[in-house]
Amino acid sequence: MGILDRSPVTTRSSDTETDAGENRPPAVRLDDVSHEYRLASGRFRSGQSRSLQALRDVSLDVQPGTIVGIKGPSGSGKSTLLHAVSGLLVPTSGTVSLLGIDLTELGDRRRAQVRRRHVGIVFQGFHLLPSLSARANVALPLVGAGVGRTERRTRATELLDAVGLGERTTHLPGELSGGECQRVAIARALVTDPDVIVADEPTGELDTKTGETVLDLLTELGRNRAVLVASHDATTLSVADRVLSLHDGQVVERDR
Ligand code: ADP
Ligand code: MG
Repeated sequence: MGILDRSPVTTRSSDTETDAGENRPPAVRLDDVSHEYRLASGRFRSGQSRSLQALRDVSLDVQPGTIVGIKGPSGSGKSTLLHAVSGLLVPTSGTVSLLGIDLTELGDRRRAQVRRRHVGIVFQGFHLLPSLSARANVALPLVGAGVGRTERRTRATELLDAVGLGERTTHLPGELSGGECQRVAIARALVTDPDVIVADEPTGELDTKTGETVLDLLTELGRNRAVLVASHDATTLSVADRVLSLHDGQVVERDR
């Protein structure tokens, strides 16, 4: 068992009320989630503010050990859904729970805490800090978690090894290829050993071959975590156990 795996019995969430066992809540649960973005630009003549409905009554359960694919054309609400799951936005209505914790009831600070502890996020554009080495980028989430420097380095080095970048730890993002940057981003998402991994079009900027390496990694991660992966690419979606299709913010199909 490699460092990317985690044993199902080691879920160490001190936030969950339930004991480890059959009654554990789903890793991710959405109930009737709708989201309206309020548009800053102007108001209608009637005085009503303009808004855009990005999600409509989306419900979803994801158990640990499951990869759920989210597909849909551009603008269908995939990123909004993943932002709601990771607590980066609070939906206008409905509830989002992680390991039984209702994020929509929490204040900003506490919600950010839950996100840092339980969620690893992989973005399409990698979002690495250009002036930090691969290792420092991977170690960064541990700074906020109060982990000491030596342990941060050790953990980041182990993870870079695990994603095949053991020889690149001191490289800057600008000195790495797109596929390597995405693997650094995946290592960073894993460094806190999160229960939930959210990946927003993780292969969007990669060629087929490097995309495959990233998909192999995601499949491996999915073994004992809940993984949500948004994509409109069939190969990427093929790693999912279930696929949910969005159109105009609404679930139009659930297959598998
Ligand atoms: P996808 O990821 O499937 O391309 P998004 O979730 O990014 O879709 O967007 C869903 C809809 O919400 C789109 O119509 C988009 O233009 C709109 N949208 C996304 N983010 C914002 C925002 N911050 N403010 C206003 N509208 C937004
Ligand atoms: Mg998107």
